[in-house]
Parts: sequence; C-alpha cells; structure tokens
Amino acid sequence: MFSDCTRRLTGYRIPALALCAFVALAASAQAQALNIVTSIHPVESIVRSVGGDAVTTQLLISNAASPHSFALKPSHLQALSQADLVVWVGPGIETFLPRALRATDTPHLQWGEDLGESDEHHDHHDHDHSGPDPHLWMAPDASARFAARVAERLAELAPQNAALFRANATRFSVELASLDRALSARFDQADASPVAVVHNAYSHFTLHYGLPDPIALTDLAEELPSARDARRAKQALDTLDAGCVLIEPTTNPRWLRLLASDETRSLRRIDPIGRDIARGPDLYFTLLNNVADAFSTCSD
Ligand SMILES: [Zn+2]
Repeated sequence: MFSDCTRRLTGYRIPALALCAFVALAASAQAQALNIVTSIHPVESIVRSVGGDAVTTQLLISNAASPHSFALKPSHLQALSQADLVVWVGPGIETFLPRALRATDTPHLQWGEDLGESDEHHDHHDHDHSGPDPHLWMAPDASARFAARVAERLAELAPQNAALFRANATRFSVELASLDRALSARFDQADASPVAVVHNAYSHFTLHYGLPDPIALTDLAEELPSARDARRAKQALDTLDAGCVLIEPTTNPRWLRLLASDETRSLRRIDPIGRDIARGPDLYFTLLNNVADAFSTCSD
C-alpha cells in the first residue's frame, strides 16, 4: 500500500512521502475500532450491541435535552466530521442533524430510510410528527431489523470483523425476542385502558403490543401550552376512562401544573430515550422494560 501510494504520487516527492505516511497511519488506526457517532441513547445502545469491542461510540445528546429541540455545538460538529459513520433515526427525531450531515459529508446510516423519509423537508422545522410516528425504536421487531442493517454497514467499513458484527446482531435479536415474549405475555393478561401521553411518541409500542392507542395531548410538550392546547388537552382527558397521564423529563412545568390541577388524575413518568439508564448494550432492553412498566401501571 505504501509503495502504491508513493508510485501514484511521483512528481510530488517530498510532500508525497509525508502524505503517504499519514495515509498509512490512518489505515492502521482504521484497523482498530471504528469511531461511530450516534444521536440518542437507544441508537448508541444498539450500535454497541452489534459493534462490541470493534467500535467506539460517541453520543450527541448525552444530556437532558430532547432530540427535537437540540442544538449542535462546535465540538459536536467536530465529532461528526471525524466519525467513520454517523448513526441516527431520521429528520423527524434529530431535526438538527440533516444540515450538519450535509456540511460534514460524513457517511451516515439513517434508521428511518426504509420509510422513505427524506431529510430535505424537515430541517427548517423544530419538530415534525405529521408523517408516520418517527420514534422507531419503540417497537422491538423494528430494532432487530435495524441491528441487522447496522451489522451490514459496519461490515462494509471493517470487513475483517464482518462475522463478529453479524453474530452480534443475531444475538441481539434473539435476546430481544425473549424480552418481547415476556412483555407480550404481560400485556396479554392486562385489560388495558387507554392512557394519555404528553408527547406523541409511543404508537409503535402500543401497536406492537396490541394496546389501545394512547391519547396524545400534544406533539411537543417542551413548549408552553397555548390556551388552545390546554382546552384540547382538557377535552381529550375528559373523554378518558382512566385518568393517568405519562409525562416526560422534558415536559414543560406549565403542562405539569395544568395536568396536576385535577386531583382525580395521576401522572406517571416515562422517558422515551432512557436518559437515566447506564449507557451500553443493556440500555435498550432496560428502556423497553421501563416503557412497558409505565404503560402497564398507567393503564391499570
Ligand atoms: Zn417526538
């Protein structure tokens, strides 16, 4: 490779040697772990399950922020531009990413691609729930399919580890199927009443487990409720049998006060991205379990 490199660059003798040394160094670094930038906790967790020790991951949204209203800092842009691959969900979730990806030109793997989502029409907008529910990690079968896609993409970048990535993706699917069976059994027995959610993020979960559609009070509960929002939320809650609302860590305190003003109603916490769970391959499993816990206690 080194001699190839110098041969191609004869005529630029000295700079060529320096450049070739750089290329050789970069090549040896690449033979080590792949540097993967991931957007949110569940995506990082799946990439860790599939990549094992052959990848290192960085997480863009590691703080309490919502991916829907997150803003990139220069350090994030630098991480994006240096990554071997960026793995994310889609423009309906990480509204801040399409423009940055175009600017850095780093290869990326987008979960929502198979839904035919385009990244062109979203990035001027804060948050978009107008199409299909973009919170794709809420259904375990979709996550198992995505893990297989992650394995193939990592295998393209590091073919020497292809067998490892595929075996890891298979193991992830098998373990996830076992959790899925346990959760299905739990919801089979429950005679669930519908719950209300402050953020319309759970339709894949409820559809997968045959639960009633949640009543979504708003798309983005980080914002202040307008008088119209408040009126519509009250109307929706009045038609509910059970008075339980799932609130999130980023829910605006005004929403919380509004919802708590009726004492017949209980509020229960749910976190769609698992901010408080220890990062790593187990995070995604704990996240699904927690979401199941929240729905089953809220719909009792
Ligand atoms: Zn959302």
